[in-house]
Amino acid sequence: MAKDLNIILFGAPGAGKSTHVEMLQDAGVDFSLVSLGKILRDRAAEDSDTGRKIKETMSKGDLLDDFFIRELVKDALRDVDKSKIVILDGFPRTLGQLEVTDQIFADLEMALPIMIYIKITQEEAVRRLSGRLICSECKSTYQEEFLDDKEKCEKCGGKLAQREDDTPEAIKNRFDLFEMQIDLIKHYFETRGRYYEIDGLKERHERHEDIMKVINSFND
Ligand code: ADP
Repeated sequence: MAKDLNIILFGAPGAGKSTHVEMLQDAGVDFSLVSLGKILRDRAAEDSDTGRKIKETMSKGDLLDDFFIRELVKDALRDVDKSKIVILDGFPRTLGQLEVTDQIFADLEMALPIMIYIKITQEEAVRRLSGRLICSECKSTYQEEFLDDKEKCEKCGGKLAQREDDTPEAIKNRFDLFEMQIDLIKHYFETRGRYYEIDGLKERHERHEDIMKVINSFND
């Protein structure tokens, strides 16, 4: 697998980014993952002013301050194993973040990232997020309608619950914020020949195949 491939996984809330990260893992793709959502949820659990501020912002579906996020991403990318493909999930989401993205990769002597955008409609996003359950232990996510046991995680036995920011108001807010930024971010990567779009309304195995095709096209 090409080591000089780095990927920004992009998509509205509910597009299925974390599902596809899991499917890539199961398919044996060797990558390091930096997930902003996960980093922030971990920080939000801290008993500190910063932790409480992050928790409050996330529960409303608002975005955190660009400067703070940029520093988090720099730190996370600095620490990650760069001998593998690096997949960055959840960044950039705003113009202020987009402006520094390539520079962060360049400063760390990493190949500039391609963007894989999983595209879905707002209607489908709301439907999926309303039925999303997350394991309180291992953080695996599930779609309620596909589960026999809606209480217990089938991977680790942990308790399943809705994510705190999967309320109808927070979902709408997150989607609206996303829509405001998408055109600019997409345009930036498109004009630099680093943009790949996946039809997020296809069946998930087909979506996975489409993502694998993009990754395999970078094989030496
Ligand atoms: P989703 O894609 O479903 O919104 P994430 O787990 O990626 O879920 O993000 C959850 C929340 O974390 C966001 O609603 C926002 O509050 C915060 N967040 C994540 N990424 C960023 C970012 N790049 N900039 C600012 N806030 C962010």
